Formats: sequence, C-alpha cells, structure tokens
Amino acid sequence: MEKKNNSNTYQAAIYLRLSREDGDAGEGMKLVSNSISNQKALIMDFLKSHAEIEIHSVYADDGYSGVNFDRPNFQRMLEDIREGIVNCVIVKDLSRFGRNYIEAGRYIEKIFPMLGVRFIAITDNYDSLDAQGGYGGDMVVPFKNLINDAYCRDISIKIRSHLEMKRKKGEYIGAFAVYGYRKDERNKNQLVIDEYAAGVVRDIFTMKLCGLSQQAIADKLNADGILSPMEYKKSVGINLETSFKKSAQAKWCYNSVTRILKNEIYTGTLAQGKQTTPNYKIKTRVMKPEEEWVKVEDTHEAIIPAKDFALVQELLAQDTRISPEKEALYPLAGLLYCGDCKEPMVRKTIPAGGKKYVYYVCSGNKKDRSSCSPHRIPETELTETVLCLVQMHIEKVLTLEKAMEAIEKAPKLKADVAKFDVRIRKKKGELEKAEKRKMNLYEDLKDGIITKKEYLQLKAEYDRRIGEAETLIRSYEKEASLILESRSSLHEWVRAFKEYRNIQTLERNAAVVMIKKVLVYSADRIEVIYNFNDEFARCMEYTAAYGEAPEGKEAV
Ligand SMILES: [Zn+2]
Repeated sequence: MEKKNNSNTYQAAIYLRLSREDGDAGEGMKLVSNSISNQKALIMDFLKSHAEIEIHSVYADDGYSGVNFDRPNFQRMLEDIREGIVNCVIVKDLSRFGRNYIEAGRYIEKIFPMLGVRFIAITDNYDSLDAQGGYGGDMVVPFKNLINDAYCRDISIKIRSHLEMKRKKGEYIGAFAVYGYRKDERNKNQLVIDEYAAGVVRDIFTMKLCGLSQQAIADKLNADGILSPMEYKKSVGINLETSFKKSAQAKWCYNSVTRILKNEIYTGTLAQGKQTTPNYKIKTRVMKPEEEWVKVEDTHEAIIPAKDFALVQELLAQDTRISPEKEALYPLAGLLYCGDCKEPMVRKTIPAGGKKYVYYVCSGNKKDRSSCSPHRIPETELTETVLCLVQMHIEKVLTLEKAMEAIEKAPKLKADVAKFDVRIRKKKGELEKAEKRKMNLYEDLKDGIITKKEYLQLKAEYDRRIGEAETLIRSYEKEASLILESRSSLHEWVRAFKEYRNIQTLERNAAVVMIKKVLVYSADRIEVIYNFNDEFARCMEYTAAYGEAPEGKEAV
C-alpha cells in the first residue's frame, strides 16, 4: 500500500512527565491519574480512534519539573522534531508538556507551527489541527487562559514595578493630567500649568478661603459659565473613551469642587499610588492609607501656595465640625482671625436677661490662656465696623475704575501703546535685515569675497544682533500686553465690588465675594483684607504711572 500524503499521516512523539516537586504525584486519585503508566494508557486509548497517527517513540521524563524545559527526553524529542522524524506531539495535558506557560506557549504557538508539528493535549481537548484557523489562530479557551494568566501575572508585576519606579522619581503616570495642568508635549511624565484651568483652580481656592461652601462655589462657577473639568477636557479635544454623560453637560458640583480643594497636586507635590488593586485579576481599586502614598515634592509648578492649601484643609475639616449641613453660616464665619496670633476667632453666645449676647474671641487664647489675649468683641460691633470698611473700599474701587477709564481715553496711554508698536516694528525690521545678511554671508564666502575668518567673525556679529533684537521684541511685547491686560481684566474683578455698591447690611454672600480675611486686633482696630488685592494694587500702580492717582482713603 502506498504511503499517504504527508499531511495526512503523522509520526507521533508521546511525551510523558512526572515530578514530585510540582505536586504532580499528589495523593490518592491524582497520583494514580498522573502516573507515567496512566498517562501512557490514556494516550494509547486516544490513538485508537486516530488511525492517521502512528507512534514513533515514547519520551518520558520521570522526576523532572515542568518549570523549565531542561529535560533530557524532552530535548531528545525536540531533536527528533528538528530532524523531521517526528511531526506530532501528544501529551495527556498541557502541564505534562510544561508548567512555564509562556515558554510552552512559544513552542505551541510559534515553533511547532513553523516546523509543521501537530500538537495534541488530550484532557485539555486541544488539537492544533482542530483549532480554529489552524496554528496561529484561536486556541481553545482553557488553554489560552492558562497562557494568558501566566503572561498577565508576569506583565502585571513588571508594570507595577515600573510604575512604582516612576512614582518614586516623581514622574506623572496618570492617563490624563489633573485639571489645572496638562502634560508637557516633550515629556508626558511632566506636568505643566494649563493657564486657563489653573486660573479656575485659584478662584476655587480663593472662594473657599473666603468661606464659600463647596456648593456655593459650584453654583458660582456654573453661573459664570465656567466649564466643569470634564467638559473642559472635551472642549480641548481630549477624547474620553467612556463618555459619562451623553446628553446634558456635566456641571460643577459639590464633589468636583471638593476633589479640587483636597488635591495636593496643586501645591507642586505629586502624590501617587493612592489606590491599588489587590492583584492583577481583580480590577476593583481600593484606597491605600495615606502614609503608603508615594509623595514627591516640587515635581511641577505649584498653582496654590502650600500655606493656602493647608488653610483650606483646615476649613474643610472645620466645615464638617461646625455645620455638617453646610447651611447656617454667619456672614463672617471662616473669615475672622485674631490680628495678633492669627488664630481663628470663635463665636460665643451667652444668654443675658432673656436676650442673647453674641461675641467673638481669639481661639488661640481660648485653647491656651497663656497665649495671646481674648480679643473679645461683640458681634454687632464687629459687623458694623466691617460693613463700614467694606463700603469705603467699594467706593475706592469705583474711583479707581473711573481713573482707569479716564486713562484709557487719555492720549498718554494711547501714545504709550503706539510707542511700543513703533519700537517693535523697528526692531523687527532690524532683525530681518540681520537674518538676510547672515544668509548672504555664506554666498560671499563661497564666491571668495570674504575669507573664512571674516565669515566667522561676521556671522558671530549677526548672531549677536539677532539675539539682541529678539530679546528686545519680547520685552516690548510684554510691556505692551501688560498695558492692555490691566485694562481688559479690570472689569472682571471690579464687577465683584460694583455689585454691592449700595450695600447696607453685611450678608454672607457679599462678605465672601469681597473679603478675604478680617483681622481683629481690638474693637478699635480691625483690618479687612479684600479679595483681588493684587489686581487692586496693580491698578493703583498703573493709575499712578499713567494718570492721576485716585484720591483713595487710607485703610483703617
Ligand atoms: Zn490671638
């Protein structure tokens, strides 16, 4: 009888393996089923229904671990495969072949297919001939899982240690930058400030320091049309794979504001590894205790000074202590501080003749009698004084605004902006000329008009001129934009005060919008620190430089 086509008959290697180390030879049933003779019997039984397979040899490694492939008979089998003597490998199950599933996978998915070897793992129900798409196609599920499992464990450990290293070096490893920052285009592990969002973050902290509740902050941001972090992310074109909300725009809410207020990242400190997954199989993330977080300071530019951040954390803790329902805040709650020791002032109520007497005292003194003094002040008196000071400040702001408007129309400012325009244009002309000459130099050198030495000297001179012109242009542009900026940003902060120009009683809202802090030294000496202090100072400077300074009354 003629021998059938090669692809239809197989010269099989029967491979058997047993090792006590691997726990193959366990107790009872397992020992029996895994014994060499049992493996062999099972394979013989299988072959009864596979006439196309002829046994070439039996290769048995008794007492060899499946963790590696350094097994004498396994190696002998490979040699026979390479020689082309054997083109089919049969094992009872995959673990007989090897317990290192990555290596085993390499043989089964790569080497055997390349050599045209059919592979059968009987109890795993795997036959490369049946496998969908043949070799290289889909493997049967249990088999694939085994390999994947080993693979994942391996990769998971590698990734974990890799990420751990990055965290320790203070490299940012999040998929997206935290609101307020963006990833540096040249180094995705480095955070740089996103000016727009950072501005919003600053406002949020300022508002909190002013005593606004998180909900009030969220309401204000929504009213001002500020995009929530998620909407902002979308607007700048960062595609989120999972769109949390498809229809309505995500608004600011209590939680998103709180998250920002609690994120230490804004102080330049990177705290990573806050959560963990128990292992690579379980995707649920659990929070780690704070002392296990990997914190690295000064990894990126801060948006919020550490001092302010700490203060906000205190306020947040206070909120939950004082008013868990976040309502019922007194107009100046959270804004009052002792002028001497800078500790917060606390509100006290004592009944007096059927009435209530409310006053504030220094909490530093209250905690420790030996420090500071009570600075006791009745609430009514305090509120009246603060209201009076606020009214004066509003007036001052409005005067300042008028002065600014006058300057805008004044010829001096126009002349100034024009002056910079002229200077910039002139310098740009010089820059262009120098660049052109520098380009021509090389031609001159080639044509023999100048020597190499002259060429180098002249080139250095033009480079110097170019650098100088560029620096000057930048600084002129900066000065010009400063003038324009103070004008355009004016209205934003002035609006906050203008709104309360007719203020007669000090409501909570008005207080937190305008006041940053109230320092109580004594009943006669109260200092109010206002919001937008920097803007106010800048405008004062500006009016002093460009126009008549407004006649502001000095602070009390
Ligand atoms: Zn004090």
